[in-house]
Order: sequence, then structure tokens, then C-alpha cells
Amino acid sequence: PSIPDLLGAPDTAFSFEFFPPRDDASEAVLWDSIRRIERVHPSFISVTYGAGGSTRDRTVRITGRIEHETTLTTMAHLTCVGSSVAELRQIVGQYAGAGIRNILALRGDPAGGLGTEWTPHPEGLDHAEQLVDLIRGLGDFTVGVAAFPDKHPESGSLEDDAKVLIRKADAGAAFAITQMVTDVDAYLRLRDLVDGAGRTMPIVPGLMPVTAYGQLQRMTQLNGQPLAPDVVERLEALKDDKVAVREVGVQICTEHAQRLIGEGAPGIHFITMNRSTATLEVHQNLVG
Ligand code: FAD
Repeated sequence: PSIPDLLGAPDTAFSFEFFPPRDDASEAVLWDSIRRIERVHPSFISVTYGAGGSTRDRTVRITGRIEHETTLTTMAHLTCVGSSVAELRQIVGQYAGAGIRNILALRGDPAGGLGTEWTPHPEGLDHAEQLVDLIRGLGDFTVGVAAFPDKHPESGSLEDDAKVLIRKADAGAAFAITQMVTDVDAYLRLRDLVDGAGRTMPIVPGLMPVTAYGQLQRMTQLNGQPLAPDVVERLEALKDDKVAVREVGVQICTEHAQRLIGEGAPGIHFITMNRSTATLEVHQNLVG
């Protein structure tokens, strides 16, 4: 099925994101998580594409395996980083061969990491919007894109980001998934800007429960932005109590999801880091 058909129809769609494992031991952990998550019948799952295109083959292989060996609808991520247009076409062809019809089209971060300057591959693409157009021209794919309620680090303002998202919708993106949301109001502001411009593109918020205090810094790095101050404050107060941090991390994520659903978010996309327990706890809190 095509992902937009699964969103908000009739209930909130729950989806889960994984990354391609590096070795056999991590692959076993991943499959264990996938099997647990399969039991709660998610709307779809997604597999990321490593920074700098580093996991190209593993993303194709693992996404194809999930598509074939489970009952799950899968979405593969794809970035423009380090690939010519010819190579991008080839990867999309491999996805098609593996039965993947839903692709998240991304530019990717600069090869030097967040905060360094973006330079496109000399025969590649400069913006995600161009990748949306390329994939759509290659076959019957449903294409999603990234959205940034806390503003993309290279963007001047949230308004500029909304304009970029609208351009991606106009290029044929059928839905968007956000970076990890820690400030629900920021998600609502972005959604209202896109709705206000007359686009009906569903925007699915990404969520991730904090399970250890040490994760906070890594999450800030991943987002390229500071996390919402109230979230940091609540967890900081408990930083010496591992059990309490995890409990409150799950609680905060549940509260955010509940408010987002109440505000009409079409789905919740859980970033799992290939583990299932914490996200499934949040999911259980939501579906009862
Ligand atoms: P773009 O939409 O191209 O935007 C990049 C920057 O360029 C923004 O500042 C934007 O405002 C600006 N811009 C865009 N279009 C134009 C234009 N036409 N003219 C002028 N400026 C423009 N990274 C990975 O490497 N692998 C993954 O699997 C992955 N998955 C992700 C999943 C989600 C849900 C999200 C939110 C992010 C993911 N990322 C992933 C990170 C993403 O690749 C980076 O955040 C990247 O810096 C931006 O990608 P983008 O697709 O939004 O790029």
C-alpha cells in the first residue's frame, strides 16, 4: 500500500524507523525488534540510509528482506549525498526490484557532517525536491520528504522551511516526516504554515523516547538544534537516577504523542534506534 492511504485512516498511523545493522550481532537485535513490532501491526516501517551514502547496499538488502519476509509495509530512505544522478537511478531501480514502492527522498547532511558546507556531487542533485522529481519520473513510487519544525540548521527561518516543504509537495511529495519533535507547538506552527498555503500534504511527527540521560546530547546533535527546554529540565532533575530517567522519558514521549494525536497529527513515526522496548511502551500507553 501507499503510505498516504495508511495515514490517519481511520485511526492514527504508527510507524517505526530502523537503521541498517553493521554486523551479525546487531542484525540479530534488529530482527528481534522487527518481530516484536510486527505484532502490534504498525502502518509501516522505514530503514534509514547511512550518512554519506555509507549503508547503500545494506539499506537495499535489509529493506528488501523486511518487505519479503514480514507482513510489514516498508519504506526505504534515500539521500543525494555522494551519488551521481546515474547512481541514484540505479539505487531506485534496486528498490523497485526488491518490491519497495515507498521512498523517503532526502538530500542528506553535508559529507563533513552537520555544520559544514553542503556541496552536491558534481553529477548529482542539490536539493531533496530534485530527488522527489527524479524518483517520481522512474516509476510508480510514493515519495515522502523530511520536515523540520525546529528549523533546518541551514535555513534562515521556519517560514523558509515551510516554503521548502511546499516546493517538495509541489514536486510530488505525498507526505512528510519530521525530525524528532520535542516541542509540539513547533510542529503545529510548521503544519499551519503549510496548510495555510493551501497544501494538504500529511506531516507525520517523528518521536523518540529518551531512555538514558546521556542520550540528550546525542539527540541535540542529531536534530542540529537544542531540545525543548522543559524536556531537558525534567530529565536533568533526574540525571543520577537511571530508572527514573527512562520512566520519565517514556512518559514525556507519551504526552507528546497524545497531544499531537489530539491536534490531528495523521500518524506518529517512532525512531527506534533498532530497539523495541521503549517505543512499544509508548505505543501501548497510546492504544491501551
Ligand atoms: P532539502 O530539502 O534539500 O533541504 C536542505 C537545505 O536546503 C534546507 O536548509 C532547505 O531549506 C534548503 N533548500 C531546500 N530546497 C531548496 C531550494 N530549492 N532552494 C534553496 N534552498 C533550498 N539523513 C541521512 O543521511 N539518511 C537518512 O536516512 C535520513 N533520514 C531522515 C529522516 C527524517 C524523517 C528526517 C527529518 C531527516 C533525515 N535525514 C537523513 C537527515 C537529512 O538528510 C538532513 O537533515 C539534511 O540536512 C536535509 O535533508 P532534506 O531532505 O530536508 O534536504
